[in-house]
Amino acid sequence: MNCTRCQAALPDLLLDPGSTEARAAQAHLAACDPCREDLAELQAAFGALDGWTAPEPSPWFDGRLMARLRDEQAAAPEGFLERLRSTLLFSTGRQFRPAVAGALALVLAVSGGTAVTVSHVLHPATVEASAAVQDLQIIDRNDQALQTMDQLLQEDGPDDSSTAAPAS
Ligand SMILES: [Zn+2]
Repeated sequence: MNCTRCQAALPDLLLDPGSTEARAAQAHLAACDPCREDLAELQAAFGALDGWTAPEPSPWFDGRLMARLRDEQAAAPEGFLERLRSTLLFSTGRQFRPAVAGALALVLAVSGGTAVTVSHVLHPATVEASAAVQDLQIIDRNDQALQTMDQLLQEDGPDDSSTAAPAS
């Protein structure tokens, strides 16, 4: 018997002390201080409940309840739109969360990151930035072409013996 099983058996100990689970808990309680404290608290709660008297319902409670039940049974059943409206008005959305999570996971699985690319295209700021980058790349390519032209002109010049390709 461990503490978890003992605490589950504490109500049995108070309500049905002769059961085997309660006797096993009794043996555990002899050696375990925290479980003894829990038992004392439970005994105090039971004692407080014994001293408490529930208020009597009003003498018209049953009659009114039956009248309301009859009214609800006689009323026309709610249509689909009324049920949908009350669901949207009063629900916390908790029951939709698994469906929404599943739909998002499905979108990610199907698109395989395409959605991220679409959002990249849809943002104009990103497009302008990439245009500036493209300009810089064009300038850089032009500069490289000019340097290559310079090298070619030098190789065609009269004193190009040092840069000639090695003879095979
Ligand atoms: Zn214990």
